[in-house]
Amino acid sequence: MESTLRRTWAEINLDAIEYNYKKIKEKIGADVKFLGVVKADAYGHGSIQVSQLLEEIGADYLAVSSADEALELRVNGIKMPILILGHTPKEQVGRLIEYNITQAITCKAKADEYSAEAVKCGGTLKVHIKVDTGMSRLGYLCDNGYFDTGVDGIVEACNMPGLEAEGIFTHFAVADEHGEDCDKYTKHQFELFTGVIESVEEKLGRKFAIRHCANTGATVRYPETYLDMVRPGLLLYGYGEFAHELGLKPAMTMKTTVSTIKIYPAGTAISYGGVFKTEKTTRIGVLPYGYADGFLRSLSNKCSLYTKEGPAKLRGKICMDMCMIDITDMPTVDVGSEVEIFGEKNSIDELAEIAGTIPYELTCAVSKRVPRVYLRGGNVVDKELMLRM
Ligand SMILES: *Cc1c(COP(=O)(O)O)cnc(C)c1O
Repeated sequence: MESTLRRTWAEINLDAIEYNYKKIKEKIGADVKFLGVVKADAYGHGSIQVSQLLEEIGADYLAVSSADEALELRVNGIKMPILILGHTPKEQVGRLIEYNITQAITCKAKADEYSAEAVKCGGTLKVHIKVDTGMSRLGYLCDNGYFDTGVDGIVEACNMPGLEAEGIFTHFAVADEHGEDCDKYTKHQFELFTGVIESVEEKLGRKFAIRHCANTGATVRYPETYLDMVRPGLLLYGYGEFAHELGLKPAMTMKTTVSTIKIYPAGTAISYGGVFKTEKTTRIGVLPYGYADGFLRSLSNKCSLYTKEGPAKLRGKICMDMCMIDITDMPTVDVGSEVEIFGEKNSIDELAEIAGTIPYELTCAVSKRVPRVYLRGGNVVDKELMLRM
């Protein structure tokens, strides 16, 4: 482990996540619960470490996308409530009950299956009902003339044996996008959601314990949507314009080192395809960081990485395991010098924009061969390499 660390590594600043959590808590107030979204290995940050931190600092709920992700947390000692947002095959219902994991119910077919399985196991599955108010993905369809059938379906699910409907939720499609139309769309989704809740609760004669819908965009821009709990992901990790707006801190810093330095004459083609040709004598640093580490190849020849002498231009195509930077005018950048791929100095938001994507995709792309180094209070508190060794 130690020996690989000075190749390429991702520093995960747990203090930044704690800071972001506290800032978000200040914003939402003491009466609103906090669910931390830790799906996809906590957006590449390591779901176990992030969940341990969230449990320690008092978050209320976690969300993942699959039963495997939920079980990974339970097996590693996480005790707090966990909601599975996505599909779970019915064969897993017994394990969800055994491990006290909450499952989203997204339609009648799933409600029927999960109820039958829970009854068969002789247990009760805790569920949150998902309402489709305009995301057009999972959930009971309730928009455009489907209000009554949607409400009836939800009431039916809430009354099924073996299921305990603790919560109800929906997901916004454009809460993080700008413009009047998006604003209207989000407001419509929210009003539909509260309308559905009201009808369902009236028919059931009882209230849901936890109603939630606010993702990152809504947590920052639509306080009226908080209800009982907010559900941010990206915001917690400190990326994107809304994190910037709140003064939050990016949690991950991706670092590599210069492995080799070469000096080429003018007219030399660098890397596959020769898309970059030197115009003068050029000093090139080879970095052990490529698309198999998570560097999107679409950034080839388009971005800069941050050295101790400032930004250095990426030259030529990004390879599987390496990439090259121009350090011609950076005499102190030497073999072994650290280079920041993204982090405090080189914004991941800008890299994402250049790549034509969103920061989510860049942190999720960090691959298992990149060791994660966890920092707290300036000290390394954990290291993890996910290779089979
Ligand atoms: C991923 C996800 C979130 C978190 O989204 P962010 O944009 O990262 O805040 C919230 N709710 C659901 C249902 C999700 O799938």
